[in-house]
Amino acid sequence: MSFIATRLGVIAPAETMEMAARAATLRRQGLDVISLSQGEPDFNTPEHIQQAAMRAMQSGQTRYTEAAGVLALRTAVAAKMQVDHDLHYTADEVSITAGAKQAIFNAFFATLNPGDEVVVPAPCWVSYPEIVKLTGGTPIVVECPREAGFKLTPAQLEACITPRTKWLMLNSPSNPTGAVYSKEELEALGTVLRRHPQVWVLTDDIYEKLIYGSEPFANILQVLPDLQPRTLIINGVSKVYCMTGWRIGYAVGPRELIKAMTLIQGQSTNNANAIAQVAAVEALTGDQSCVDTFRAAFHERRDFIVDALRKVPGLEVDVPQGAFYVYVSCRALIGKRTPQGQVLATDRDFVRYLLDAAHVAVVSGTGFLHSPYFRVSYAAGLELLDKAVQRIHKAVSVLE
Ligand code: PMP
Ligand code: GLU
Repeated sequence: MSFIATRLGVIAPAETMEMAARAATLRRQGLDVISLSQGEPDFNTPEHIQQAAMRAMQSGQTRYTEAAGVLALRTAVAAKMQVDHDLHYTADEVSITAGAKQAIFNAFFATLNPGDEVVVPAPCWVSYPEIVKLTGGTPIVVECPREAGFKLTPAQLEACITPRTKWLMLNSPSNPTGAVYSKEELEALGTVLRRHPQVWVLTDDIYEKLIYGSEPFANILQVLPDLQPRTLIINGVSKVYCMTGWRIGYAVGPRELIKAMTLIQGQSTNNANAIAQVAAVEALTGDQSCVDTFRAAFHERRDFIVDALRKVPGLEVDVPQGAFYVYVSCRALIGKRTPQGQVLATDRDFVRYLLDAAHVAVVSGTGFLHSPYFRVSYAAGLELLDKAVQRIHKAVSVLE
């Protein structure tokens, strides 16, 4: 019998992180690999946020903090909810975590009993179903096709709710498709939820400020405030403030759930990094002009990459409305043969081929539970994006 716990048997590694690691290994071997795999901005953390971290260190804010996070940050998060979303929360309804990923983990670890179901609309971020499984629940993956804008419909939601359904996960703008739910779409989903009072909503708003279309950001609570007693908002500073390595995320929701999540935090990581928490206060309360600068850069890159990828025969690209990903259909290339004679049977075969032949790392649709697609992260400079698409074009044009 294996020394490793049986619960790990059902967990797949995050393909986003695997592809990034594979690209890094090839680079160390001297290959010129372009990685558009892991979703993280290429910009450095803004100067004023770095300065806040330095001041924190110099003034001795270098110790353990409360498990839920420092009061200044929890207060800043509660204030942000009021200002940005017109939602009222107090600091004891906020939990600060080591990245948004840990906030999701804590929420499910705190609430899922074996057999409890979590509705996960797919394509979805690689980690959602795995965190559900790791914490003892059962992901109910609902396929949301391209024709439906990769979005869950009210009829699909109604059809998959059972007495065991505990959570519905929503992520808008979405990783990996960039889809953004409109207020009307959220309202329609909320109308279904009103008929099922046992179902909670986890709304992952981490890309909220990275929207490029005319549809403004809304989460379900802004549309249906009566769902507040059963909604958990997940967010963080990683993407919007270019702080992926600082590891600060947060959860905002009903006090009892936040208390349970804090109990887990206190017995696991203790607290999120103290210095990074001070930096996150500066991110949320300081000068916000950096967000506009980053958004403008991502917008330009989105337009560039969509145009460039559309010129590659066999690829189909819709214009993503938010986040920094394009989800590209490679359906027309499945079944083709590489110059080495290998048949590309799946999107995983295709992304492996791109890595080997073009030295471009992207993530397969299989990882996001919707095939045959691949995801390109365009959080990279225009020159690099240009070079990457040229390489992809060349590799695709020799397929037979
Ligand atoms: N949610 C989504 C949709 C994401 O793409 C990510 C990116 N890793 C996270 C949560 C987690 O973010 P963090 O880096 O703050 O853990
Ligand atoms: N969320 C990013 C991505 O999807 C970071 C990697 C990860 O945490 O999975 O690529």
